[in-house]
Amino acid sequence: MEESKAIVLFSGGQDSTTCLAWALERFAQVETIGFDYGQRHRVELEVRPRVLDRIRRDFPDWRDRLGEDHLIDLTVLGQVSHTALTQSVAIEVQTNGLPNTFVPGRNLLFLGFAGAVAYRRGAKHLVTGVCETDYSGYPDCRDDTIKAMQLALNLGMDARFVVHTPLMFIDKAQTWELTERLGGETLVNIVCEETHTCYNGNRDQRHSWGFGCAACPACDLRAQGWKRFRSPNLIQEIAH
Ligand code: ZN
Repeated sequence: MEESKAIVLFSGGQDSTTCLAWALERFAQVETIGFDYGQRHRVELEVRPRVLDRIRRDFPDWRDRLGEDHLIDLTVLGQVSHTALTQSVAIEVQTNGLPNTFVPGRNLLFLGFAGAVAYRRGAKHLVTGVCETDYSGYPDCRDDTIKAMQLALNLGMDARFVVHTPLMFIDKAQTWELTERLGGETLVNIVCEETHTCYNGNRDQRHSWGFGCAACPACDLRAQGWKRFRSPNLIQEIAH
C-alpha cells in the first residue's frame, strides 16, 4: 500500500474539484473515481474530463501527480431509489425533513467502491468532499457516518485506509477561500467555468459564481458562498 497515493471521489462539482486540488498538494500520486448512478442530468459526467484537462493544462506541478480516472457504473442505484436527482420529480422536502434530493445509501456505496478501487490500486488515502456544515442535512455526509465507513472498510478489507474530508466543517464561502488558497484565481476560474453543481442541470446561464439555474438549493448555496467570499466586509458585518 502506497503511503503517498490517494483516490479522490470526483464528481465534477465545486467541492470535489477543490478536494482534488487539496490532494494534489499533499500526495505524490492521485487518481480520481466517479460514479454513473443514473443521474437525471448527464452534464455532471460530461464536465469531469474537462475539469481534469484544465487542471493538467494550467498546473504543471500537479500534472505529473494526476493519474488514472476511474468511472464506475452504478446505474443500479437509480433503479432502487426514487429521488429528485435520479427521477423526473420536483425538488421538495419530505415528511422526514430531508429533501428528496437525498439518494439513500449513495455515499455509503461510493465509499465502498472507492475502497475497492483503492485496495486494487494500492492507495492508502481516500478523499471525499462531503460536508456537514451547510448541506441539506444529508445523514451520509456527516462526520460520524464517514468515520464509521472508514472503520468498516478497514475491518472488511483488512486495510489501513485513511478517509480525508477537507470540507467537513467549513461552509461554502470557506470552500471558495480554500480553492483560491490552493490554486489562486486560475483554480477559482476553473471552478466557475467548468464544474457543475446545479440540481437542474442548467448550463445556459453564466453567473459570477458559475453556471446554473440560480434557483435550486445547490445553486443557492454556491451563490451565497460566493457572495461572502467576494465581499469580506459582509463577513465582518455578520461577525460583529
Ligand atoms: Zn440550480
